[in-house]
Amino acid sequence: MHFKTELLPEIIRQADDTLSRHSEDIIKLDQAIGDGDHLFNLRRGLAALAAQSQDLAALDWPEAWRKIGMTLMSTVGGASGSLYATLFIAMAKAASEQSAAPAAWAEIFARGVAAVKQRGKAEQGEKTLLDVLIPVADYLQSAPRDGDSAAVLAEIDAVAARGVEATRDMIATKGRASFLGERSKGHIDAGAKTAQLMISAVVAVLRRQLA
Ligand code: ADP
Ligand code: MG
Repeated sequence: MHFKTELLPEIIRQADDTLSRHSEDIIKLDQAIGDGDHLFNLRRGLAALAAQSQDLAALDWPEAWRKIGMTLMSTVGGASGSLYATLFIAMAKAASEQSAAPAAWAEIFARGVAAVKQRGKAEQGEKTLLDVLIPVADYLQSAPRDGDSAAVLAEIDAVAARGVEATRDMIATKGRASFLGERSKGHIDAGAKTAQLMISAVVAVLRRQLA
């Protein structure tokens, strides 16, 4: 089965909804080792996407990803804004070079995550949102090629959850939290947490499509 961009309004709604439901948690995490604006940065971007979600639903995936990237670039402040913008713009580029059939999604997402790594000059293990994005990209590439099965979607959820938990014992070496050095240890990275929550929201919408 092929997921359609008509799902985007619901995906955007659910992504914002989960951030809203976990807002206290996220703010607390970000205040511990960041500057406390991360949730508001992301929700500003999601509000802008919600306002154009009907337009997005009429596009094909490469065009939709490009528009999402451009919108995030211009509305989300902070490090996370340019990183998410980079993710989607790179996915659009990768997708326009090949068919955005489900089997290709793993490759497209991996190309997006590679661009984020390059933009943030960061690798796995530095206590950032990449500690969720990289394991998910790796899992997708090793997953059965029918990457839209219920089992694969469930495993994406589990991989993202392990990724966010792994940031707790890391010492931040990128972003604001890196100023704290050793003192960043013992806290989950807020950017990893929001990445996991949003991935989980996407997965939930896609799983309902399969049901
Ligand atoms: P800022 O740090 O500029 O205030 P945000 O608060 O919106 O930006 O986002 C902070 C999150 O961005 C961090 O929790 C971390 O996950 C992520 N992050 C910061 N710097 C980098 C980087 N160089 N590479 C990847 N992710 C990063
Ligand atoms: Mg911040």
